Amino acid sequence: MRTLCVVAIFAGGVGLPVVGAVAQERPRIIDMHMHAHHAPFELPGGAPGPCRPSPCQPQGGATATAAESFEKTLEAMDRYNIVKGFLSGADLDLVQRWDSQAPGRFIASPWVMEAGKPAAEVLRRDYVAGRFRGMGEIAGQLVALAPNDPALAPYFALAAEFDVPVSIHTAGIGPHVPGFRSAAGSPLLLEEVLVRHPDLRVFVENAGYPYLDDMTAMMYQYPNLYGDLSTITWVIPRTAFHAYLKALIDAGLGKRLMFGSDQMRWPEMIGKAIEAIESADFLTAEQKRDIFYNNAARFLRLDDAR
Ligand SMILES: [Zn+2]
Repeated sequence: MRTLCVVAIFAGGVGLPVVGAVAQERPRIIDMHMHAHHAPFELPGGAPGPCRPSPCQPQGGATATAAESFEKTLEAMDRYNIVKGFLSGADLDLVQRWDSQAPGRFIASPWVMEAGKPAAEVLRRDYVAGRFRGMGEIAGQLVALAPNDPALAPYFALAAEFDVPVSIHTAGIGPHVPGFRSAAGSPLLLEEVLVRHPDLRVFVENAGYPYLDDMTAMMYQYPNLYGDLSTITWVIPRTAFHAYLKALIDAGLGKRLMFGSDQMRWPEMIGKAIEAIESADFLTAEQKRDIFYNNAARFLRLDDAR
């Protein structure tokens, strides 16, 4: 139970009640990269979070249970006034349970890694019933499936049919799992998908880090393509994150980048991710608001989108 004085406010045009003790003091944030007690590898409670490049000093201690992940994630959302989180996870029932236990706070979405698990046709029922309102994280790269692999085509087609936003892991880095292939993560490999589905809203994890040139080309060419700034806010050195962010901003892409925490089983990283954006002294106040809220509101077509 929350012990602080709880204040119910109305989240502007989002049209959803937001409950939080400090919700009135901090401007709203949308977190475009959250997971329901999920990390793409087994680990015990208390395990430190990932860091790159090795050798490096890992931070944090993993939650032990799904209930702890839920409680601490919601606590952080209240503390930082995160009014919405794009939520996925391998346990699809758990994703839907978090969504129903915190109505209006999450955009529930299935984690898709191996093609056919779950089959697109099975997921269709969830979209028809409104149980899922996003697609992905599509994480085929963890098993060497590039975005243009025909095995993933049914998932993009389903997202296009239901007009839901798509999250995809397409980057040079990812978890240390045996099937992961950096070469399968060039953002250029998304091109055939975007050509086939020109209206599909797709966002790329970590804005394709460190494939800056490829990501810039794709974002210039395909206006519906956005990037999130998530794991790289706390997994790589701060200097490397800020250099990448500055390069994207200097390229004129500040209206297409969205905050995410990728908290997985380390909800304490939500605050660190926010601090990584706030400490970027090359960003204007308006650019920070765009990253924290405005760009995602536009991408998600919320009522108050600008
Ligand atoms: Zn993720």
